[in-house]
Amino acid sequence: MDLWYKSTRDSGLKVRASEAVLKGLAPDGGLFVPDKLPVLDVSMEELKDMSYQETAYAVMKQFLTDFTEEELKNCISRAYDEKFDTEEIAPLAKVDGTYFLELFHGATIAFKDMALSILPHLMTTSAKKNHVENEIVILTATSGDTGKAALAGFADAAGTRIIVFYPKNGVSKVQELQMVTQTGSNVNVVAIHGNFDDAQSGVKAIFEDQEMARELEAKGYQFSSANSINIGRLIPQVVYYVYAYAKLLANEEITDGEEINVVVPTGNFGNILAAYYARQMGVPIAKLICASNENKVLFDFFRTGTYDRNREFVLTSSPSMDILISSNLERLIYLASGEDSDRTKELMEGLKSGGSYTVTDEMQAKLADFVPGFASEEETAECIRSTFERTGYVLDTHTAVAAHVCGQYQSRNEDSRKCLVASTASPYKFARSVMTAIDSKYEASDDFALLEELRAVSGVKMPKAVQEILDAKVLHTLECDVDQMKQIVRDLL
Ligand SMILES: *Cc1c(COP(=O)(O)O)cnc(C)c1O
Repeated sequence: MDLWYKSTRDSGLKVRASEAVLKGLAPDGGLFVPDKLPVLDVSMEELKDMSYQETAYAVMKQFLTDFTEEELKNCISRAYDEKFDTEEIAPLAKVDGTYFLELFHGATIAFKDMALSILPHLMTTSAKKNHVENEIVILTATSGDTGKAALAGFADAAGTRIIVFYPKNGVSKVQELQMVTQTGSNVNVVAIHGNFDDAQSGVKAIFEDQEMARELEAKGYQFSSANSINIGRLIPQVVYYVYAYAKLLANEEITDGEEINVVVPTGNFGNILAAYYARQMGVPIAKLICASNENKVLFDFFRTGTYDRNREFVLTSSPSMDILISSNLERLIYLASGEDSDRTKELMEGLKSGGSYTVTDEMQAKLADFVPGFASEEETAECIRSTFERTGYVLDTHTAVAAHVCGQYQSRNEDSRKCLVASTASPYKFARSVMTAIDSKYEASDDFALLEELRAVSGVKMPKAVQEILDAKVLHTLECDVDQMKQIVRDLL
């Protein structure tokens, strides 16, 4: 059956999946959502024996209904290949009775690879299907991981260009080096003097600038997004929740139909929303545990019904979650409002103008299965240290936020359901924070020595993504103020 995509802010707009992927953001500033969430048409019994690629097809075909079987399978096989260091693509590690779904085995060792390995293929296929002649310019704001994953995916992809904006002092050393050493004739990387929210708002403002769109159209360009505001980012993320459940079943860790809880370290709310979509598709997920770091705007929202970004922005050891405007929450708000686009628009305008909004009690009641939690910097470090001491398993800082919140939930609630933790990055990406959490003696070591130390204590081979940057040349040194972003884009094009 064919699915349409609507804007969360305009019920009158309807496009096909491929057009939603191409556009990234609706012209009214809303996000594209399917007009009805599809359900799986295969059983867990069948999914249990499927490879990652087969699972990806079974899930994504339900969303991308205007792609042919051949088109979609082609995208999938080009995305999930040897770029991943394991055939399982997303392996499960059982540590202390909790299941860690390792989403960091792709080219840039963070979970962003799960979607950004396939998005360029979905995008170029969509361009062909819609007879787009323009060059597609991917504008990306990054809190550290999306940038590199998008650069790696789009570098030298025919018919595309990519410009990445990252917060100059808001990313780890490894994250920054990964981006500024990116090769490819169609890539640009710009450091902005601001934080991730500034970068994301700047990019959204460029998307909403219709005059600029016309100006670029005349030059043969059109914009799209590689951020999780693009539905083409979200759909591939639903796959690994279905896959993980099926693998738990295949490994006889659970019985068919048994409910599990999912814990997700959250920033822009994309990953956990994908888990929610998986649940709506039929995966028996009970609680969606939303883990925040000290930027706990989501924790407060789920507690009180008020979303309020008017607070201090904290730089933490989990920089990819240092976000005060969680864009994808808009998709959940839209559902909770009963798909009321006027209401959603009003709330989002409140966020833009005054920095906050409050949902009704009725809407809040619909969000009851989202359980919020947060970890302080000390709790995150303590979780890394104690997990390592007990089990020898080394968590990255983001995953540790989730692991801490998971433990807290289990100790405060009588809930014996098994927990699946989304493990979003390799510890190598955040070696300084991880190693100093394990032992403060590492504070004196330099960043490169720490990578070696991490290898020694974890026994985990140094990923190719890290080896590569050790002696790569810095190719991108452009910096700008937040209010210069538009001009920079004009200059680069
Ligand atoms: C992006 C990111 C997150 C946050 O995911 P969202 O989908 O933005 O909520 C968490 N951990 C890591 C390592 C990330 O890169």
